[in-house]
Amino acid sequence: MPRPKRNRCVSGNPTVTYFKPRGVPMSTLARVVLTLDEFEALRLADFEQQYHEEAASQMKVSRATFGRILGSAHQKVADALVHGKAMLIEHGPGVLRIAAVKCEACGFMWEVSSETERAICPSCGQATGLTKKGEE
Ligand SMILES: [Zn+2]
Repeated sequence: MPRPKRNRCVSGNPTVTYFKPRGVPMSTLARVVLTLDEFEALRLADFEQQYHEEAASQMKVSRATFGRILGSAHQKVADALVHGKAMLIEHGPGVLRIAAVKCEACGFMWEVSSETERAICPSCGQATGLTKKGEE
């Protein structure tokens, strides 16, 4: 029996979601679509230089799945660089964005998925708005 597909967790949004070669009109440009989990794999493994084991557990996927996501990300980035394609980062299916929430009332911090707009503080029970990581 196939295992159910599990969500991959990412901890933020890329600051820029579109990259394009300079001086090439959009209409003639081929596009590569990088999914958010591929972007996160690149960020963890190549930028933060985490061990795959560690990065995989952070994204809540197996080490093998992480390797597959990262391999696909490398292939796409290379394709964009080699062929001068535009690159788009897209929120793919099965990706759960995790946001850090800080209670406005008591300062307690915890994590929720991005689908939640407001959350109830597990510490004091106060409803609070979402604050993204790094934003106070
Ligand atoms: Zn609270």
